[in-house]
Amino acid sequence: PVAVGIDIAGDGGVMPRASGIGDQWFDHDGQITKRPVRALTLSALAPRPGETLWDIGCGSGSVAIEWLLSHPSTQAVAFEADPARAARARANADRLGVDRLTIIEGRAPAVLHGRARPDAIFIGGGLSNELLERIMDLRGKPTRLVANAVTLESESLLAHWHARIGGDLLRIELATAVRLGTRRGWRSSYPLVQWSVIL
Ligand code: SAH
Repeated sequence: PVAVGIDIAGDGGVMPRASGIGDQWFDHDGQITKRPVRALTLSALAPRPGETLWDIGCGSGSVAIEWLLSHPSTQAVAFEADPARAARARANADRLGVDRLTIIEGRAPAVLHGRARPDAIFIGGGLSNELLERIMDLRGKPTRLVANAVTLESESLLAHWHARIGGDLLRIELATAVRLGTRRGWRSSYPLVQWSVIL
């Protein structure tokens, strides 16, 4: 067997095909689902060809954009309350050549009114009991719901809903090595709780 090397022309960054691409691919203001958590989130959302995602509280749009990068037949609708972030999400999609992202500026749950459920829903912002109630009441097909919570309040909301309708709760605790004087130490991120359930 002969090993064949492949040279990729140019000095630009080459985007990997696996989910959880580097944060540097997205313009953001710090409110972004970081790469390792995004990879776990996309894994839980499990995009399939032809499916549609709602990304509620889309921020930079990174989750919706990675969903769209997973297959050219996927669709996504991103909801964002902050106009500057909605514009940034649009620009990120354009820059990465993704033209199937619909961005809706407005607050959940009001902004979901009258819509039929998609194949998958990610809640990255705006999590509330009212939002979950509203999603349960929407008509539509079986939907995979994934919600990430960082605060104690949103975590207890997810624990309550997990007891009520089941699914999986995953606690994600990550740490990265940073300088500590002349040596190194672990800097922990806030623990995150992820609830996945099929509605
Ligand atoms: N997943 C995003 C980060 C989300 S940060 C990314 O990777 O970039 C949470 C976002 O939710 C913020 O941008 C915030 O403006 C938005 N948000 C908070 N409450 C909301 C609501 N009720 N409706 C819509 N967006 C909301």
